[in-house]
Amino acid sequence: MRKLRREPLSEHATRVLWKQTVKIVEAGNSEPSRSKLAKARRDEAKRLWKQKAEATFDEIRATLKRMASGVERCMYCESNEGTDIEHFWPQNRAPCRAFDWTNYLLACSACNSNHKRDRFPRRHGELLLINPTEDDPLDHLVLTPTGKFVPITDKGEKSIPVFGLHRGPLERSRVIAWAAVDGLIVRYANACARGDSSLALGTQKALCEYPQVSVFAAILRVAEGTAAEDFLSPECLEALAAHPEIKSWLDG
Ligand SMILES: [Zn+2]
Repeated sequence: MRKLRREPLSEHATRVLWKQTVKIVEAGNSEPSRSKLAKARRDEAKRLWKQKAEATFDEIRATLKRMASGVERCMYCESNEGTDIEHFWPQNRAPCRAFDWTNYLLACSACNSNHKRDRFPRRHGELLLINPTEDDPLDHLVLTPTGKFVPITDKGEKSIPVFGLHRGPLERSRVIAWAAVDGLIVRYANACARGDSSLALGTQKALCEYPQVSVFAAILRVAEGTAAEDFLSPECLEALAAHPEIKSWLDG
C-alpha cells in the first residue's frame, strides 16, 4: 500500500451523493430508540445503494481508477485489477457514509469480498486501519525485500490481517517487484547516460506503474537509511544518488 491523493468529484456527482446521505440521515428519525434508528438508516442505505445512479457511479469508478496506483490496481493489494467500489467504513457499520465520496476506495474482489469485508477494528474510539487516501501506509508498515510488511504501529499491525497483506502470492510478487524496480532504476540511469530520452521516459513510466508500487516507494525510503547497502544493489544506489529526480516521481 502507498499514499494516494484523492481527486475531487464533479459538482453534479457531489450533489447526488449529498441528497442520498440526507435521505439516510433522516430515515427513521421518528423511531423511538437508537437501535431502531440505526436499523432504519442501515435499511435505507441498503435500499438506496441497490438503486444508485449508474451515471454518477461510472464517474466515481473512473475517478477512483485514476487515483489508484499503476494500471488501475487495487488500493489494498496493488496487485489485482481494482474493480469494486469499496466502502472503507462498512455500509452496515456506518450507513450515513454509504454515499460519502471520502469513504470510497477501489478494491479487487478478493480484497473486498474475502478479506476486508465488514471488518473495522477500533480501540477506544481510535480507528485501527490504514486508509491509503489519508495515511501514508509506509508510516505504519515497513516493507522489506522478503516481500513482507512489518508493522511499526498498532494501525499497521491490525491492517495486515484485515487487508490480507500477508497473502503468499502477494509476498512473492513483492520480492519479484523489488528485484525488477532495482534493475529499472539502473536502466533509467544508463539510458540517461547514453542520452536516450525515449528509453529514460519509458523506464520512468514502467517504474511508476509497476504492480506493487509500494515496493518502489519502500526502495526510495530504504535508499535514505543506514541499511541501504544491505537491500539494494550498488548500481541502484549509485543511480539514485546521480538522479535525485527519481525520488519525486511518486509524489502527488
Ligand atoms: Zn486487492
